[in-house]
Amino acid sequence: MELPFRFRISHPAAHGNHPATRQGCQRTNTAKYSGDSTAAGACTVRDLPHAGAGVGVIPPPDRMIFMGGQVELRCRCGGVRAVVKDVSPRTVNRVVCYCDDCQAFAHQLGRADLLNAKGGSDIVQVAPSTLTFVQGQDRIAGVRLSPKGLYRWYAGCCNTPVGNMLSPSIPFVGIIAQAFEAGAAGIDHAAGPPVGAILGKYAMGEPPPGSTRLNLPLILRAIGKVLAWKVRGKTWPHPFFMREAPEPIYPVTVLSREQRDALRPLCGPRPAAQAGD
Ligand SMILES: [Zn+2]
Ligand SMILES: [Zn+2]
Repeated sequence: MELPFRFRISHPAAHGNHPATRQGCQRTNTAKYSGDSTAAGACTVRDLPHAGAGVGVIPPPDRMIFMGGQVELRCRCGGVRAVVKDVSPRTVNRVVCYCDDCQAFAHQLGRADLLNAKGGSDIVQVAPSTLTFVQGQDRIAGVRLSPKGLYRWYAGCCNTPVGNMLSPSIPFVGIIAQAFEAGAAGIDHAAGPPVGAILGKYAMGEPPPGSTRLNLPLILRAIGKVLAWKVRGKTWPHPFFMREAPEPIYPVTVLSREQRDALRPLCGPRPAAQAGD
């Protein structure tokens, strides 16, 4: 992905021209996870004068900085923060998932706002070891829609999803694109746009083109990524599991069958109720 502004803004000379930006960077020296970027002569989106704008407010392109593929993650209220390293179109797998489980999870959190108009979740799959939480870990919790379902982690402070996963033996973490600091549009610059859509049979209304068939290239790409991450030792340190046990680091709730079924009328392909009813 071409990032013409990245080099211009991250160059130390740029700071000299922007006193406000320079000041912002000095502030972040106290933040544990800003070391790398400040050492490289850059600051991050939230250091800039507009910082504090919530997720969904997209900074202008010249203010979006992804140093060396490192991007920030923040929950809606800013209480939980993380960094993800090595984000590029080549190193991550970004797909839009229309499955009813992803829809149910959003409704369980009261965050249907994170779904697109057809109920899709824009997911960026990354290697576990590239995701590191740096703030608000005490607010992280997990939910499973069934006893063997995905672990779906979220920030309990504001019910923002922060990562889906199966188990450490199948190393990947799927992060909803809106959780990235610059939002879904901002992550386009770092990860590229979604490479496809899956499970369109659960989409609301007309399924997006290509989303209902078995998309073999997409599946092979995802499997290839996970195998490569496993072989290259990118499972550990895992952001959600302790290596020794291995047990989840954070508390997990498993929905009862009744709780799971109660979410079905809200989800595609033909929702019987509207969120909030
Ligand atoms: Zn929060
Ligand atoms: Zn899904």
